[in-house]
Amino acid sequence: MNLFSLAKKFPTEEHALAYLMKARWPDGVRCMACDHPKCWLTESKGKTGKPRRLFQCAECGWQFSATTGTLFHDSHLPLQKWFAVIALMIEGKKGISAAQVQRHIGMTYKTAWYVCHRIRQAMQEEADFTVGGPDTTVEIDEMYVGGRRRLQGVKGVPSKPNKTVVVGMAERHGSLHMRVVPANTLQNLRRVYHDHVDTETPKVVTDGNQTYKGVVPRAKHRQGNHEEEIRDKGRVTSTYTVESAFSLFKRGIVGNYHRLSAEHLDRYLGEFAGGITEDGCSLGCLIWPCKI
Ligand SMILES: [Zn+2]
Repeated sequence: MNLFSLAKKFPTEEHALAYLMKARWPDGVRCMACDHPKCWLTESKGKTGKPRRLFQCAECGWQFSATTGTLFHDSHLPLQKWFAVIALMIEGKKGISAAQVQRHIGMTYKTAWYVCHRIRQAMQEEADFTVGGPDTTVEIDEMYVGGRRRLQGVKGVPSKPNKTVVVGMAERHGSLHMRVVPANTLQNLRRVYHDHVDTETPKVVTDGNQTYKGVVPRAKHRQGNHEEEIRDKGRVTSTYTVESAFSLFKRGIVGNYHRLSAEHLDRYLGEFAGGITEDGCSLGCLIWPCKI
């Protein structure tokens, strides 16, 4: 995303904040501590006169803001400027210096240096991400994007759909990541699993795809069954977190892009949620709670 389209998309700080909130809580704010869906909003003014919006959980009383747990946390810099620096860093193929950021975005050198450093650190962490750990539940699901069937040859035989596979991994009530894999094979899924899922995770939920039986150790594997879930509404074995991120992403694609090619998918993913590209991640990815 270039600076012009960025300015159009986020003309005010309100727009940037609304985007961040929508990306984090597509179905409304939920408590970050206990996942309760009812949170009170309190508005106040910070020291600098900047509006400060805090949410307080109606259940456990936990206070948090839209930036809590993200790399924008505890920063006085407007989100618009953060987004602009991220956009510059992604566009600048050869990297961008703090002095350039200082000039182009308009901030002190010290702030520019700090912001660049923090974004780079977040990108690195995103590339090396791990989900799960003791006492957590990890959901894994795949999504197939693009590759519409075309009629080809004299007989107009439909070609095999050439879809790109995206594996989504989410720690329930935690962070979410997506990774593009070349094909939905046992080998690829195994690699993604071993690279990114903490071995101490006690419970891993997938959909009914039989390939996962060869990926996730049997003792911790739960396979969701959509019909059963609808029946008990318990969502005990469900990949709901990943699925809702996928549907948000697909709605975004339909709204913004006419065509989608596999080589650009990583970038699109990055713009939406939890996307990881070879160069690190981009805007959307940094918005999901990150470990900094
Ligand atoms: Zn709570």
